[in-house]
Amino acid sequence: MGEKKIVRRIRVNLDKCNGCRACEMACSAFHAKPKYSSINPARSRIRVVTDEINDEYVPIRATDYSKAACDGRRVYTVNGKEYSECSFCGTVCPARNLFKEPDSGLPLKCDMCEDDPPQKEPLCVQACSLDALTYEEVEEVVEEQVKADELEIGLKSLVDKYGVKKIAESFARISQKSL
Ligand code: SF4
Ligand code: SF4
Repeated sequence: MGEKKIVRRIRVNLDKCNGCRACEMACSAFHAKPKYSSINPARSRIRVVTDEINDEYVPIRATDYSKAACDGRRVYTVNGKEYSECSFCGTVCPARNLFKEPDSGLPLKCDMCEDDPPQKEPLCVQACSLDALTYEEVEEVVEEQVKADELEIGLKSLVDKYGVKKIAESFARISQKSL
């Protein structure tokens, strides 16, 4: 039997998005240092994949870092419009220049706008006046195996990025502190 958990998520309605990119501006402003000191969509953790000719706008949020690019060859037809696989993918990968901090090149990741005190809704949702983005909290049962898998994926990304030695040293430090 799994454990019940509140899952926070953002629903995207592609029919409502007009590509205004207000979500990008809000996200980048919120994450600027100091907060709201600058607006730079290149620093946003949400980006709108745009194809104006075909009237396609897909807001995607940055998820995990991947050292390798996938083949990205799948094409989806939704309501008569053709989208590439990458249009829906939030992975930070070498095949495109999305979700990389412009100065350092470090991967960006959506944090659902963690803040203290918490925001009533993520900033990109607040900025979307067309309700293409809506915020939801749903109760889900999380299986132990799923959590273990997530942990493994997270650890693998860290090892890929920093190497086994650095991760092992960090674990050693953490375990000494918790003794
Ligand atoms: S703010 Fe809303 S409508 Fe504008 S680009 Fe973002 S998701 Fe689309
Ligand atoms: S939830 Fe917050 S961090 Fe994530 S994309 Fe939206 S504004 Fe950016």
